[in-house]
Amino acid sequence: LDVRDIRQSMEAIATELSQSLKDTSCDADSFRAKIERNFSRLSRLDQDAMDLEQVMGMVRALVQDSDDIRSSTDYLSSQLSKAQQEIDSLRLQLQNTEKDILFDALTGCLNRRAFDADFDSLLSQSPKGCCLILVDVDHFKRFNDEYGHLLGDQVLKAVAKRLLDSCRDGTKLYRFGGEEFAILVPTSQLRVARQLAEAMRRALEKVSVRDRRKGQLISNISASFGVAEWQQMDTRQSLTERADTLLYEAKRLGRNRVMPISG
Ligand code: GH3
Ligand code: MG
Ligand code: MG
Repeated sequence: LDVRDIRQSMEAIATELSQSLKDTSCDADSFRAKIERNFSRLSRLDQDAMDLEQVMGMVRALVQDSDDIRSSTDYLSSQLSKAQQEIDSLRLQLQNTEKDILFDALTGCLNRRAFDADFDSLLSQSPKGCCLILVDVDHFKRFNDEYGHLLGDQVLKAVAKRLLDSCRDGTKLYRFGGEEFAILVPTSQLRVARQLAEAMRRALEKVSVRDRRKGQLISNISASFGVAEWQQMDTRQSLTERADTLLYEAKRLGRNRVMPISG
């Protein structure tokens, strides 16, 4: 189910409801006119000499009019409760769709869209600052070539799980792109974020996946890390670029390492 479907359903409900409301308020206007006419006739009962037949006719008209009013409002309230049910179920669907939008299908962790949103809200709500860790799996193209894309996917899942296991106290993991992950650490201390990256690097060294076809355990998996601290005036882009430059340095220096060397 797509957000567009939900929006279309919402629009259909709104159109239907506003039509029902229009109908009902038209009815109400004409009922009011009828009732006023009936009452003014009733108030003339004393003055005008009316026979029983005329009075009965007036009462019958009143009863008929109030029946009409009741069925019209009954119809409106049934429409309203139907709409309420549909809105409730759409709201639930929308909540689920919103969740899907923020999560990565393969690894189950948050995605790039969530990263952008979280980063912006983190910076807008507190000047406390944060650190960004960028992670890129080493020689992953080679891994895919050697063991196949499916096993590569298993590695990405295992890597995401290991990284997630190390995330505590508001630290959040995102799949940034292909074999890259980002971690937002709510600390202004580069040293703290660097230590976390180092722990993650060591945890990833322990990741292994089983190649069923060849019946072997593959465990030479590693990743490189770039860690940057948010500075006043930084944007999402400038901070990401700094972390990415450091990640590139880590690759250049031989991979399976964290940059900068100290924080
Ligand atoms: P480096 O150590 O310099 O990062 O080398 P690399 O081979 O990891 O880097 P490169 O950017 O050349 O290749 C990234 C590879 O990651 C290529 C692409 O096929 C693979 N990849 C990206 N997304 C996925 C995915 O979802 N599943 C699998 N199996 N592979 C992926
Ligand atoms: Mg890459
Ligand atoms: Mg890579």
